[in-house]
Amino acid sequence: MTQLYRNLIDGEMIETAATLDVVNPANEQVVGRVPACGAAELDRAVAAARRAFKTWSKTPVDDRRAVIMGISAAIEANADELYRLLTTEQGKPHMQAQHEIHASAGMVAAQSTLVLEDVINEDTEERFSRTRRVPVGVVGGIVPWNFPVLMAVQKIAPAILSGCTIVLKPSPFTPLTTLRLAELIKDVVPAGVVNIITGEDSLGPLITAHPDIDKITFTGSTATGKKIMEGASKDLKRITLELGGNDASIVLPDADVAKVAEQLFWSSFTNAGQICVAAKRVYIHEDIYEPLSKAIADYAKTVTVGDGSQQGTGVGPIQNKKQFDRVCELIEDAKTNGYKFLVGGDVDPSGSGYYVPITILDNPPEDARIVAEEQFGPVMPLMKFSSDDEVIARANASDYGLAGAVWTKDTDRGVAIAEQLETGTVWINEFLHLTPFAPFGGHKQSGFGAEYGIEGLKEFTYTQVITVKRDALV
Ligand code: NAD
Repeated sequence: MTQLYRNLIDGEMIETAATLDVVNPANEQVVGRVPACGAAELDRAVAAARRAFKTWSKTPVDDRRAVIMGISAAIEANADELYRLLTTEQGKPHMQAQHEIHASAGMVAAQSTLVLEDVINEDTEERFSRTRRVPVGVVGGIVPWNFPVLMAVQKIAPAILSGCTIVLKPSPFTPLTTLRLAELIKDVVPAGVVNIITGEDSLGPLITAHPDIDKITFTGSTATGKKIMEGASKDLKRITLELGGNDASIVLPDADVAKVAEQLFWSSFTNAGQICVAAKRVYIHEDIYEPLSKAIADYAKTVTVGDGSQQGTGVGPIQNKKQFDRVCELIEDAKTNGYKFLVGGDVDPSGSGYYVPITILDNPPEDARIVAEEQFGPVMPLMKFSSDDEVIARANASDYGLAGAVWTKDTDRGVAIAEQLETGTVWINEFLHLTPFAPFGGHKQSGFGAEYGIEGLKEFTYTQVITVKRDALV
C-alpha cells in the first residue's frame, strides 16, 4: 500500500476518507497519497487558526522568533530525508533538491531576524503620534509545484513572525515533502498556528473565498492569480501575488564568452527551466552571438537529462504531465514554423517519465510562441540584438515584469540598462540570487506585493496610527 501522508490541523495529523495520488515524474509511479480536503476540513483548519490567533498575536515577538528558529532547525536536522523525498515527487536532481532544503532552512532562520519598528509620526508638545504594524489575522497560503518547500516556508515564516496564523495549501502535484515537514514541526509550533491541508485545485477557490481568512499569499501562474484576485474581491481580502515571468537575459558585447556560457545555461535550465525567474529569453549582442551560442550549445551537450535521483543527472523531468504537454506543444509550434534548433527539440514519446531534451533555439522571431510565452521548461531561445535601446525595448515588450539579467564587464552600463527594465529584480552578472533581506516581487502581470525583507513582512500586517493629544481638556 502506498504511504499516506497526513495533514496538520490544530496540532494534529489528520486523514480523510478520500485521497489523492502523487506521482514521481521520473517514472510516473505513484509514490504517496495525501488527504483530499474539502470545505469541512478547510473550516476546521481556519477555525483552529482563528482560535490560535488570539494568543499567538499577543505572544512576545522573541518567543515567536524562537518557534521559527525551531522550524529551521527541524528542516536542517532532517535535510537528508527531505531532499530525497523532494526529488521523488518534484523530479529535480538531488543536488538541486539539497539546495532547496538548505535554502529553506536558511531562509526561515534569516526571516526570523526581521524587525518591524514602530514609526513616530509626530512628537510635539501638542501631540504624539505613532504608527504600529498589526497582524492581519488568518492567512491563506497557496503554493506551486516548482519549489514546494521553499515556497511554503517563505510564506509560513513571515506570516507567523508578524503574529498571523496560517492555513497553507501545497500544490496537489508536490505535497509530500511539505506534509513530512508538517509532521516534523507539529510539536515545534503551537496548535493551530500553522495548518497544512491538501486537496485538488478546487480547494484553492474555497480558501480564496473563505469568510474567516483575512489575507491570501499566492505563488503560481498569472492565470490563477487573476482568479484569486476575483475571488478575494468579494470581501476585499488583502492579497500578495507572485506570478509568472518571461525574464530577459541581456548579454553585452564585452562579456567573456567562455565565462558566461555555463552560467547562462544554468540560468535557463536549473530545475528543468521550471523557475519563475529563469532566463526565458536570452538576448546576445550580434558581435558575440556566434561564439557564445556555440559555447552554450557545446556546454549543453555535456549535461545529462534523466532521473534526478541518479548520480550525474543535471536536468530532471518536467514535474507533471500537463506542463510536459505544454512544453511539447511550444516545441512543436517552433518546428512547424521552421525555427532553427541548435540543440534538442526531439521529445521521445516512448518510455515513462516526463522528459524533455535540453532545447536551444537559434534566433527565433520575437513573436514566436516559444519566445513570447512563459515556457517553464528546459527551453532556451537565443536572440541577436544590436543596440542597448533596441534590446531594452524588446525586453520590456512583455506582459510580464518579474526579473531580468545583464551580463557585462561594464557594470555602469549594466546598471543603466537595469534601471530601464520594467521588472521587480535585475541581476548584473549573476542570476537567481534572492536574499531574505530584499523584497522580491513582480510588476505588470507578474503580480504585486513582495516576499522577503521588511516589505515582505509588512504584507502580513495593516497599519494602525495612534495619536495622543497632549493638552486635551479631559
Ligand atoms: P498554478 O497557478 O497552476 O497553481 C498554483 C497553486 O494554485 C496550486 O496550489 C494550485 O492547486 C492552486 N490553484 C489552482 N487553481 C486555483 C484557483 N482557482 N484558486 C486558488 N488556487 C488555485 O501554478 P503552477 O503551475 O503550480 O506553478 C507554475 C507557475 O507559478 C508559473 O507560472 C511560475 O512562473 C509561477 N511561479 C511564480 C513564482 C514567483 O515568485 N513569482 C515562483 C514560482 C512559480
